[in-house]
Amino acid sequence: MPSGLRCIKCGGESDSYPPRSSCPRCGGPLEYTLDVDKIGTVKFKGKLSFWRYRPLLPEVRNVATMREGGTPLYSAERLGRDFGFSTLYLKDETRNPTNSFRDRGAALIVSNMMDFGAKTAVCATNGNMGASLAAYCAKYGIACHVIIPRRVDMGKLAQMLVYDAIIEEHGETVDDSIEMVKALAEETGWYQATPELNPLVIEAQKTIAFEVAEQFGVPDWFIISMGSGGTAYSIWKGFRELHELGITDSLPKILGVQSEGCSPIVNAYLKTDVDLGRPFTHAVGILVTNPRQKELALDAIRSSGGQALSVSDQEILAAEQSIARLEGIFAEPASAGTIAALRRAAEGSIIDRDESVVCLITGSGLKSTDVLQALSKRRKSAMLGAEFSTKEKILRLLSSRDRYGYEIWKDLGKMMTRPAIYQHLNELLARGLLVSYVRKDKKYFKLTNRGRRVLKAIDEVKMLL
Ligand SMILES: [Zn+2]
Repeated sequence: MPSGLRCIKCGGESDSYPPRSSCPRCGGPLEYTLDVDKIGTVKFKGKLSFWRYRPLLPEVRNVATMREGGTPLYSAERLGRDFGFSTLYLKDETRNPTNSFRDRGAALIVSNMMDFGAKTAVCATNGNMGASLAAYCAKYGIACHVIIPRRVDMGKLAQMLVYDAIIEEHGETVDDSIEMVKALAEETGWYQATPELNPLVIEAQKTIAFEVAEQFGVPDWFIISMGSGGTAYSIWKGFRELHELGITDSLPKILGVQSEGCSPIVNAYLKTDVDLGRPFTHAVGILVTNPRQKELALDAIRSSGGQALSVSDQEILAAEQSIARLEGIFAEPASAGTIAALRRAAEGSIIDRDESVVCLITGSGLKSTDVLQALSKRRKSAMLGAEFSTKEKILRLLSSRDRYGYEIWKDLGKMMTRPAIYQHLNELLARGLLVSYVRKDKKYFKLTNRGRRVLKAIDEVKMLL
């Protein structure tokens, strides 16, 4: 078992309770360290599950569990073929009790809370961790406070609500919520369950690496999306420990992925300072502007000989569809980023097509508001069918300048009868997408603001197709 908390910078030891993430002496990051000589031979017992790895987790006397972990590792043959990869695996963490990898952290944290008789947990979260913690706290009769930023995926918020967490909104992004929760836990003495502030979460998440090592072995590459950066480090730490213990004989290269709209860790890796204005991405799970575990993530990437890169939201949404259509997995956008990154990495000759790759699918797409909205819009547009396309063409024609009826018919290539065109025009007028006026005895049609918005929505949907 890991001995205790040690500072990565100065090596100083710290008490592991109450939870803390930075060294009281130098402020460096704290982590649990394995004393390899003391541990000797490690035996994992029982079926593949989170608690199978108890010998390599910090010691707990109580075990809080909802059967987390033991998630499938799929051979993504169709997706791999599409990309030209023969050995591509998806680690499907959507199969955890609340449909994300954060259940591992919640299980270990609630176990630790029970050991110390802690009655109230507090956590800053932009989604998955709040949902996981709320569920585990509910099951074990612990009060759960979550501090969320303004932008949170609706499905994750619904989970927190239904598990009866006490929810408070603070700040624009999770960075603000984390600052607030740090002070709140110190003031109230509530148990600090924020992943960025409690090193147990990294310990819990390293079990993902342990499982993959048993399910497949050590891949050449492990691709992980980065918000705060803690997850990438967790995976690296897991493989590193197996290697130190002599259980495996190689290490994977870590490819850390962010969205182009918010990529502070990638920028730090590439030593570029791109200011894109206000950070934004539809992958809300990785919308973190000031990643607290940046140094850890960079260490994982550099020590492993890996790479960091960012992908556009458009690439993320396209990847989201590929995973679903080819492998039947509905991933949240943050996880789909790993597949988008794989494409980039292959094109950029960072990863060879004969290398083995594991992508981490952190959570379910059902949790993500933006994806659900985009898909439901698409369904509506598909139902409108052919009729929709003529109306769209008319709107597009009129977006450049006003035109009269005959002109529209002519510019559409005289494909339909003129009465049919007039019928479409009348319907668009009735829906408020167009207005008409008379000039020089001709009836002109003009796009309204509403029409412009509809056209914009169509463009957004088309990005997904
Ligand atoms: Zn220190």
